Order: sequence, then structure tokens, then C-alpha cells
Amino acid sequence: MQTDVLIVGGAVVGSATAYFLASQPSFQGKILVVEQDPTYEKSATALSAASIRHQFSTPENIRLSQFGSSFLKSVDQHLCVDGEVPAIGFKERGYLFLATAQGLDILHTNHHIQRAENVDVSLLTPTQLQSRFPWLNVNDLAAGSLGNTGEGWLDAYALMQGFRRKSQSLGVQYRQARVEALHREGRRITSARLSTGEVIPCGTVINAAGTGATQLAQTAGIVLPVQARKRSIFFFTSSARLMGCPMVIDPTGAYFRPEGEGYLCGIAPSPEQDTACDDFEVQHSLFEDVLWPILAARVPGFEALRLQRSWAGHYDMNLLDQNAILGAHPDVDNFLFANGFSGHGLQHAPAVGCALSELVTFGEFRTLNLDALGWRRVLDAQPLREINVV
Ligand SMILES: Cc1cc2nc3c(=O)[nH]c(=O)nc-3n(C[C@H](O)[C@H](O)[C@H](O)COP(=O)(O)OP(=O)(O)OC[C@H]3O[C@@H](n4cnc5c(N)ncnc54)[C@H](O)[C@@H]3O)c2cc1C
Repeated sequence: MQTDVLIVGGAVVGSATAYFLASQPSFQGKILVVEQDPTYEKSATALSAASIRHQFSTPENIRLSQFGSSFLKSVDQHLCVDGEVPAIGFKERGYLFLATAQGLDILHTNHHIQRAENVDVSLLTPTQLQSRFPWLNVNDLAAGSLGNTGEGWLDAYALMQGFRRKSQSLGVQYRQARVEALHREGRRITSARLSTGEVIPCGTVINAAGTGATQLAQTAGIVLPVQARKRSIFFFTSSARLMGCPMVIDPTGAYFRPEGEGYLCGIAPSPEQDTACDDFEVQHSLFEDVLWPILAARVPGFEALRLQRSWAGHYDMNLLDQNAILGAHPDVDNFLFANGFSGHGLQHAPAVGCALSELVTFGEFRTLNLDALGWRRVLDAQPLREINVV
């Protein structure tokens, strides 16, 4: 078997790319997605907090998310198969970034960038916050930034399966195997060796392997500065009723949002504890020692809560600047990257899928100019700083 385009990794980014490529009228080739684990048990996609926001500090990230929410709102037009639309359950609820006096300048700077990109976002004073969210403790706050439209959360697994199913209906082949190594001759990848022993000659290779992307790149002699970083998520119930609760981002970096009958929450570990990892053990002390006190201080009703379950997943962290690395490495013409999403790859998957389909078909970005997210800045060690990292 040989293929025109080989996509390594069939979770949300790989499957979104497969869908957009198979939908490109100008692309006629054969697409093969190789995914090592069709249960997706350990994929970031299945373990994610599944939320989308427009409140970033770089125009590229804002535009990627704006594309994402338009896509989510019209999923019926994109991903319907045999009359069935995937139940992605998009809840358009907004993010609320809270700031103390110390964080006010950053909130204002971000606000200007966001407004220039037509983000539907409002700055609220503590009095406005209190009247809109009476359950919130605003004593230490100077302001809050609330997304009015386009932001929210969804069922990540359903979106990924929707992309996969639609891609298959358009002729994309999925194969269960691990890509062990890529064979490179000079400036080209010529084939991929699978765990089944099969060698697949290929035209273009797309690296959508999440935290597996670094090892895959290495087999082609490319150093990708992406490492797994553990993030734990906790689901709790509480008798507190938080009317109109958005995704709240506390000044400490802790977040919480409604989920079903309860709430999800999380926080990044301290930098000393945020090291490369390969296990999926939940960092329970984060909840007891760090999160719960923050939650109870921010929402007095959360003093009484019951932790119901928790899980941990891996961010594919770009160690340079916590932003995606998109497109070809300058040394290899037919090897495209979509890696290093560092915690925002779910919401960016539709736009990234579209962008990569354009790179394959036309050799350039057409819908969104994402050159700033290319390899150049990585090789020049010129980070594209995103301030609003959650
Ligand atoms: C706890 C947590 C919370 C998050 N919250 C959010 C959020 O709220 N919003 C948001 O936008 N993003 C969030 N993210 C990030 C988001 O989930 C990821 O950026 C996104 O899912 C990445 O998708 P992916 O397809 O690139 O990678 P993954 O979902 O990790 O998939 C990679 C796939 O590649 C396969 N693979 C790897 N190596 C190989 C190989 N050699 N051969 C074959 N297959 C291979 C794997 O089996 C896997 O299925 C979160 C992530 C985590 C861990």
C-alpha cells in the first residue's frame, strides 16, 4: 500500500486535518490516518477540559479560536453523515478572566488586542461582577474580562469522532498501528515503517501525534521542542448554585466551570513540579492543598463540596513559547507539523485542520495566515509569547 498523504495520529488534530483535506475540491489524493490506539484512552483530546475561548493575547490564537467556534456552531453543515450530526453539545457560556490590581495592566493590554480582533468581550468592574455573579467574592478584584459570545465548552470526544466518521465517509482510510519510524532521503520523507512491519511509501507526512510527535520527528532527524506535561482535572459537586457560571479563571491561574451536575476545576502545578512525565497519576495534593482553598475563597458556597472523580492528561507543551508549531521544517519539504498546542489544541483543531489542508493542496495558508506559528521562530529561538495561558 502507498498513500499520497499519511497522517500520524488520528485524534482531533489528525482527524480534523483528514476531514478538511478530503473536503478540498482541489485535492484528489489518497489519505491514510495511522492511529496506534483507537480507544484514544491516553490522548489529550479525550482527557481535555474541552473548552474554547477567544481571550488570547496573540492575534493568531484569537483567530484560530474564532474559526473554531464558527465551526462548532455549524457542525451540522460539516460533519453530518447519513443524516446524523455528532452531538458535540457546544455550550456557549463565556470565559471570565479575573484580575487583582497587580494583573490589571495585562488584562487591559489583552483587552485592546482582543477588541482589535473583534472579540466580543467586556471589561467589568468589581461592582458589575458582583451584580452579575452574586456568588463570586470580588473583594480582592480590580476587574474581570467576560467573553459574551463564541466561548464555551463541548464534548471533545464527540467532536473527534465526528471528524473521524466524516473523514471516513469521504474516503479517508484509518489504520490501527504505531508509526515506528519515518525514512528520510535528503529533503524528503519517502516512507513510514509501521509496528505491523509494513512499510508505507508516502507523498506528504503530517505529524499529528500529540505528545508522540517528538519521537516521530526524531526518527527523521528533527528536534521538536515539545514535551509531555501533566495536567490534572477534578470534578466535584456542591450544593452551591452558581447562576450563569462561566469558565472562571482566577488570578491564581486556577479555573472552574460547570459540567453536568457539578463543576470541573484545575490548575497548573508549580514550575518545579511541572516536569516531563510519562505517567497518568492524578496529582491529588493539587486539589487538597491548592485548589480547594482557592475555590472556597473565590466562591464561599464551595467551602462545602464533594470531590467525585479526577483524571490526568498530558499537554504537548512547546517548551519555547507554549504555542503550536505548524507547517514544514525548512530542511524537509514534505513533512508537516501540527504539534505543541500546550493546552489549546482542541479549540484550534478545526482551524489547524483547514490550514494544513491548504498547505498540502496549495503549498500556502489561504484562510488564515499562520506563518507566525511556523518553524522559523523555533529555529531562531524567537518565542511568540502568549500571555493568557491556562
Ligand atoms: C488535561 C487537559 C486539559 C485540556 N484542556 C483543553 C481545553 O480546555 N481546550 C483546548 O482547546 N485544549 C485543551 N487541552 C489540549 C488539547 O486536548 C490538545 O491540545 C489536543 O487534544 C491535541 O490533539 P492532538 O490530536 O494533537 O493530540 P492527541 O489528542 O494527544 O492525539 C495524538 C494521537 O496520536 C497518536 N499517536 C502518537 N504517536 C503515534 C505514532 N507514532 N503512531 C500512531 N499514532 C500515534 C496517539 O495515540 C493519539 O491518539 C487539554 C489537554 C489536557 C491534557
